[in-house]
Amino acid sequence: MNELTEILESIPVDPLTGAVAVPIYQTSTYVQESPGANKGFDYTRTNNPTRKILEDIIAKLEDGKRGLAFASGLAAIDAVVKLLHAGDEVVAVDDIYGGAFRLFTTVYNRFGITIKFVDTTNAANVEKAISGKTKMIWLESPTNPLLKISDIEAIAAIAKKNNVLLVVDNTFASPILQKPLKLGADIVIHSATKYIGGHTDVLAGLVVTADEGLGEEIKYIQNATGGVLAPFDSWLLIRSIETLKIRVEEHSRNALKIARYLQTKEEIKSLNYPGLESHPNHAIAAKQQKLPGGIISFSFKNDTEESAVSFVTSTKLFKLAESLGGAKSLVCHPASMTHKSIPRETRLKSGVTDSLIRLSVGLEDADDLINDIEQALAKVKQKK
Ligand SMILES: *Cc1c(COP(=O)(O)O)cnc(C)c1O
Repeated sequence: MNELTEILESIPVDPLTGAVAVPIYQTSTYVQESPGANKGFDYTRTNNPTRKILEDIIAKLEDGKRGLAFASGLAAIDAVVKLLHAGDEVVAVDDIYGGAFRLFTTVYNRFGITIKFVDTTNAANVEKAISGKTKMIWLESPTNPLLKISDIEAIAAIAKKNNVLLVVDNTFASPILQKPLKLGADIVIHSATKYIGGHTDVLAGLVVTADEGLGEEIKYIQNATGGVLAPFDSWLLIRSIETLKIRVEEHSRNALKIARYLQTKEEIKSLNYPGLESHPNHAIAAKQQKLPGGIISFSFKNDTEESAVSFVTSTKLFKLAESLGGAKSLVCHPASMTHKSIPRETRLKSGVTDSLIRLSVGLEDADDLINDIEQALAKVKQKK
């Protein structure tokens, strides 16, 4: 049976009514027959039936032992970082999500946790950066917004050898396209706000662990710190996962068509899409991902912010907004939006140039999207 179908089939039908959709248990507490005697639920921060179903689904979908749902991707990241102690070091991908960069460098630095950024597309760089204090390797693949791909299996082997945890933020691929735990990672994180939610209407984060013990530790942190996902938002994600496979496959098909079109435009300088043979990590992407995904980034030959701003304010179907992974196509200018909190020098060094544009290719018709890009590119030319 298809994997997603099998997982969805395993959800128990509501025993009270036979409702086909999972019920939303909008309750904070549960009646106890006598002190401590309950039906497995005593307080919603600790456990909620709707959230529990979502957590079980994501654990199975990522081939892990334990799933946990949080109020946002960053709350999920925060709970995983809390596995660390003062004095510990993290070795992380240099093209890290802006919010994770901010969390590590302006909040966790105050608690004595340090982070070293390396170009993880070369696994040897990761091994070189590991010291006696390193407790965690932090990967995103593909990265945001440069779509760099790291060899998860090779880095997992380095992590095992050095007795370090490997954490993979799998937001850009989704569990449909990539399964980091199968490749040897210990923890997978999602901003479910993106592809898993898929409709730009919910903020959520998910964590899945490869083993039960690690899952139990993060569950303890989740209950102790309280960043849990609400019942209604848990229900929205369960509803969304039913269409995750067909959505992600269509996002990827549309993105490949658009990337091939962008390849023909002479005003475009660097075009980043792992599905193109010209992408430096194309081979490893093809090996570890089922499909290249729905995100594309590119910059203009003249590399001016003016060209980028002119483009992002001229598209119509591609709405100018932060975030990604929804049914509606979005366009963003990382330098002035998602990556604003990263100092310009650091940003330029990691390749996020002034004119870089990120497209989140939606589920509209690919030809309509190409026409929209075509008319916006024409406006950029006129402005010059
Ligand atoms: C958006 C995002 C996050 C943060 O998730 P929120 O749900 O916005 O808190 C983390 N990692 C990646 C790769 C993201 O794109």
